[in-house]
Amino acid sequence: MIDEWDLTATNQYRLSQRHYEAAVLPIGAIEPHNLHLPEGQDFRHTSWVARRSCELAWEKCESVICLPTIPYGVDCNLMDFPLTIHVSQAALDAMVRDIITSLHKHGIRKIVIVNGHGGNEFVALIRQIQTELDVHVFLCNWWKVGHDKYHEIFDAPDDHAGEFETSVALELYPELVEQKVAGDGKTRPFRFEALEKGWVRTSRNFKNVNDHCAAGEPGAGTAEKGKKYLDLVCGRISNFLAELAQSPIDEKFPHVS
Ligand SMILES: [Zn+2]
Repeated sequence: MIDEWDLTATNQYRLSQRHYEAAVLPIGAIEPHNLHLPEGQDFRHTSWVARRSCELAWEKCESVICLPTIPYGVDCNLMDFPLTIHVSQAALDAMVRDIITSLHKHGIRKIVIVNGHGGNEFVALIRQIQTELDVHVFLCNWWKVGHDKYHEIFDAPDDHAGEFETSVALELYPELVEQKVAGDGKTRPFRFEALEKGWVRTSRNFKNVNDHCAAGEPGAGTAEKGKKYLDLVCGRISNFLAELAQSPIDEKFPHVS
């Protein structure tokens, strides 16, 4: 069976018979995740979430298309760790802008960026491109989608490669998780209360956080927790995609008319 929601799988014949209302563009990163998770963690889990969400949405509307994942992300603050690949936000923005322009040329005006890396920021680009092109672009940082239920599933908070990300990896690609080599994920606190409380933000150089590029305890991660969160997230994202695809672009879109 050919999955017509997958741009890398469908073909020109099938594309010419269809109209797609919405496109999904996943974006990840290639960077260390503690010592035990794959370098492609953000690329792998984000691809999976975007693809699964499109597959589920397709059952409801048959008009969403999933693009291949941009693998690289903004990682200049992790360059002290082996084989981190950094791509500047400006370069990412340029590529995303060109992809959106291509989609617009093909008549797709609803675009959802599914982002899986906290270092990537697309809101400024979205604000700008919506004033230049007749498109509606939406950003979904997928790890946040189920945050209202986070504490019903997980015991500890996870900033980077902790319980949450280890659980997701154990559910999706357990053969790539080397749990026994994981560092404890304990972080060096900030010296300023404002930064600790979070009402002042900065960008952390991860080599000053700890020596294994992690922020969050991996020990309590299980595949079962990962599955629960992924089911929740993909259910929500797929519902949004189907609603979006079925909603006509009128004068007040995306607000109520
Ligand atoms: Zn990650």
